[in-house]
Amino acid sequence: MLISSNYLLAKARRGRYAVPAFNINNLETLQAVMAAAQEMKSPVIVQTSEGAIAYAGMEMLVAMVRVAAQAKIPVVLHVDHGKHVELIKQAIRVGYTSVMFDGSALPWKENVKITKQIVRLAHAKHVSVEAELGMIKGVEDLVSVAERDAVLTDPEQAAEFVAQTGCDSFAVAIGTAHGAYKFKGKTHLDLERLERIAGLVQQPLVLHGASGVLEDVVQLAEHYGAELEAARGVLDQDIKQAIKRGISKINIDTDLRLAFTAGIREATTDLPRVIDPRELLAPAVRCMKDVAQRKMKLFGSAGKA
Ligand SMILES: [Zn+2]
Repeated sequence: MLISSNYLLAKARRGRYAVPAFNINNLETLQAVMAAAQEMKSPVIVQTSEGAIAYAGMEMLVAMVRVAAQAKIPVVLHVDHGKHVELIKQAIRVGYTSVMFDGSALPWKENVKITKQIVRLAHAKHVSVEAELGMIKGVEDLVSVAERDAVLTDPEQAAEFVAQTGCDSFAVAIGTAHGAYKFKGKTHLDLERLERIAGLVQQPLVLHGASGVLEDVVQLAEHYGAELEAARGVLDQDIKQAIKRGISKINIDTDLRLAFTAGIREATTDLPRVIDPRELLAPAVRCMKDVAQRKMKLFGSAGKA
């Protein structure tokens, strides 16, 4: 069933596990994620970025997810990194059950003002709101304490921001980065900072940019030609520690992209004579489903539907 993320994330925070949030933009990715969630009996958040909405169309995505969510597990349809108020309003209107307003590039006052406005609109329709403050950027480039403090979430500021805006969940910047470029170096999470944020903020906390956990997926991608150096994203043990310290939602995008392209490369190499798109896409779905299932085990959400 399609529900808002409030109940799911509150339950996850109490139970010390994290709900996986997968970015989708096509049918095959949705099929892979839903098959994984049903098999693992895991709650799941299906999220679409503004780019995914531009690609597939909001109404198309809502229609697909509505049908997929007839499964007997809790499903959330979430806007990831919504930066435009009009787009978020439209999403609430057409059936999204959760939205993120990303005002991280805005000055504090502006971010608070717009987040509050979104919270008011969303709550009137029982839609939950994730918000963000500051940047989500890699720690390894930051040499001094002052530099780290400038881009990572300040615990006191986070508490004040959440209290002022009334948002339901909060995306922390503790050293993860978006995209696959981070595989070039090791990602360390600032777990001590996370612990301080979790001590001050009662709302569920969200981890972005946490891909790169599955070494064999990266190796598979490399084998089929993706140019990544070593498999060194965020480590499994760091993810487990982060969940222990209060992370209740973890976003997964890059790992699915790697799995998808690995599957496509496998198909075009191994099945040169096949012209049926469904057959060519089958390995991609299999790889993505595999990644999704392993995330559910790692995050502890398996069996929690
Ligand atoms: Zn993100």
